[in-house]
Amino acid sequence: MSTVCVTGASGYIASWLVKLLLERGYTVKASVRDPNNPKKVDHLLKLDGAKERLHLFKADLLEDGSFDAAVEGCVGVFHTASPFYHKVTDPQAELIDPAVKGTLNVLGSCSKASSVKRVVVTSSTAAVAFNSRPRTPEVVVDETWFSDPDLCVKSKMWYVLSKTLAEEAAWKFAKEKGLDIVTINPAMVIGPLLQPTLNTSAEAIANLFNGSQTYPNASFGWVNVKDVANAHIKAFEIPSASGRYCLVERVAHYSEIVEILRKHYPSYPIPEKCGDDKPFVPIYQVSREKVKSLGIDYIPLEQSIIETVDSLKEKNFIGASSNI
Ligand code: NAP
Repeated sequence: MSTVCVTGASGYIASWLVKLLLERGYTVKASVRDPNNPKKVDHLLKLDGAKERLHLFKADLLEDGSFDAAVEGCVGVFHTASPFYHKVTDPQAELIDPAVKGTLNVLGSCSKASSVKRVVVTSSTAAVAFNSRPRTPEVVVDETWFSDPDLCVKSKMWYVLSKTLAEEAAWKFAKEKGLDIVTINPAMVIGPLLQPTLNTSAEAIANLFNGSQTYPNASFGWVNVKDVANAHIKAFEIPSASGRYCLVERVAHYSEIVEILRKHYPSYPIPEKCGDDKPFVPIYQVSREKVKSLGIDYIPLEQSIIETVDSLKEKNFIGASSNI
């Protein structure tokens, strides 16, 4: 079976990707920033097949050529590493540089390695949906949409900007160098955590258990991490896969998320009220047409939420109901 590389392997999505790749028999060269940190690597080293077929490499997005060794000899590269958090003091240094320069750094290593046939880049619906077009229940967002960097700057949506600019840079580089890339553009990813730390998207669910009285007035697309990891693999394995793939099971307002939580976790004090008195931010649709060709049959949102909460409880990110 072939050898593939996963960048940022300790991360939430990447850990699932490494797990599923090992299960399918791949040899995986996994890049992490700190291979000596047990919190970042122990869960990977314990995966089935890891002893025989998982190799760790130290690499940082901001160090030129850092990924050369991890990428060398690989037929496929999954570039997932990119910072995902919202509390930043210096957006350029903390988010934009690692996302954009980091992507070009990884793609540079890929274009130098003659073994690499395709690179699957983890982009985001952040790079798709944020422009001046309205998003309302009858609107269908699809892969032809692009986020508007100027609007991101104006709204100070730095993470969204980092993903938008990184994807733009990736396509430009791929075109110039003749590199075969495919992007996976998931919305908010939830589902079980393999890593021992709390990642930003799972935190969106954990926060609804922190005793707060209100939930955000926001609507997001949601998708299960197992579907996301699987889509990455299909996008590499299916020769005709190309372009971008939006991954959204469906868009839901937080009011619906808390309703599902109340139904399944009645002993927890789930927020009852919306954070403001404005009309609910509308939901919209995201086309499933293109992703059908990858054979993804989405895990329903309700099940994804249950899987997330059960995992958060197991890892003590949500306390016992009586302790809240
Ligand atoms: P995560 O758990 O925070 O993983 C992010 C990974 O990026 C970590 O492994 C981190 O390494 C690595 N990283 C950050 N800065 C780095 C640097 N300077 N050099 C090397 N590695 C660096 O987040 P995630 O949710 O799995 O996100 C993975 C990818 O999916 C990102 O590209 C993100 O934009 C994208 N995405 C996520 C979602 C979502 O809802 N989760 C949705 C759409 C797209 P360390 O472990 O060393 O910190």
